[in-house]
Amino acid sequence: MKLELIRGDIANQPDMDAIVNAANAQLRTGGGVAGAIHRAAGPGLEEECRPLAPIQPGQAVITGAHQLPNKYVIHCLGPVYGRDKPSDKLLAACYKNALKLAEEHRLRSIAFPAISTGVFGYPLDDAAEVAVSTIQEMTGTLEHLETIRMVLFSERDLQAFHRQVAGK
Ligand code: ADP
Repeated sequence: MKLELIRGDIANQPDMDAIVNAANAQLRTGGGVAGAIHRAAGPGLEEECRPLAPIQPGQAVITGAHQLPNKYVIHCLGPVYGRDKPSDKLLAACYKNALKLAEEHRLRSIAFPAISTGVFGYPLDDAAEVAVSTIQEMTGTLEHLETIRMVLFSERDLQAFHRQVAGK
């Protein structure tokens, strides 16, 4: 399994089987990642999401990708930092549950944004530590996934993830 770190837009990862949405509980469009994904997917995505909502912090659900170039969207509800506790366990559950869904669907590639680090206020370095360590812990259980890509929006976010992978 290869863990890639890139700077980019989660809604523009055409070579990935699935992209992960940093969703809200209602699985509606919004700002940040959810807005970018729903805009690119078109209204069919919200329609498919409606009967699956609401979801709980740490939970993940899978849908089709509609007008996106991927096969699936996996929607994760990250913890709101300082409100949904324990935040680290809930954030780790997002990554675990998303990876489990990807495995169940025999996907070979998945791209994640930095869940909870935008509007939900999770400190970047702490979120990067949880994300990288959870992915590394799950590696031994993955049979189908070959590529896990973290898509970071800013250079600062990318550097924070690089530091975690380097163990610094
Ligand atoms: P949350 O509500 O889980 O905090 P956000 O969408 O507000 O989710 O932000 C999560 C992270 O994704 C933030 O670091 C934000 O800068 C980043 N981000 C925003 N838009 C995009 C995008 N189109 N592609 C990748 N990352 C994005």
